[in-house]
Amino acid sequence: MPPSNSVKDYIRTIVDFPHEGIMFRDVTTLFADPRGFRMAIDQLLHPYAGQQIDKVVGLEARGFILGGAIAHQLSKGFVPVRKKGKLPAATIAEEYQLEYGEAVIEIHDDALSPGEKVLLVDDLLATGGTAEAGIRLCERLGAQIVGCAFIVDLPDLGGRRRLEALGIEVHALCD
Ligand code: IMP
Repeated sequence: MPPSNSVKDYIRTIVDFPHEGIMFRDVTTLFADPRGFRMAIDQLLHPYAGQQIDKVVGLEARGFILGGAIAHQLSKGFVPVRKKGKLPAATIAEEYQLEYGEAVIEIHDDALSPGEKVLLVDDLLATGGTAEAGIRLCERLGAQIVGCAFIVDLPDLGGRRRLEALGIEVHALCD
């Protein structure tokens, strides 16, 4: 692929994955490209320049890749939010709705301290259910969400409106 200054150009669309009718936005091609990946990390961080961030929280699984790189860039700690049953120590959990059924995500109950300022990161915002559950986990530990950063926002699915209605600032690199 020729070099591009647009993150969107590095994202691949897979038709009918994980099931028929779904257009899956595949960011692994962005992650695999050194220019694309650096650009994405720099652009995700851009709005938060000068703001206090104590921890970066990443949502499983692609939020780990982005969140790890962002935390390193900021010289801050990284905290994973994982699917139920994956974290080894004591956790708190939040349930949320999927298209079919429910899911549960967890965070270690000592991963954040009251008053800590958190940047929440994931690859893609769709309905906002996953991010909202992640926000609830952080807030239950007393942390304050500085913002939620995503590579992709799917505006038709309403995630941005849902998070903004909670008073959360949303930053996405492309629609
Ligand atoms: P939401 O909870 O409906 O906002 O869905 C967002 C979650 O589903 C995120 O954790 C995404 O990683 C994942 N997701 C949904 N659709 C896609 C896609 O097209 N590409 C990559 N991840 C997706």
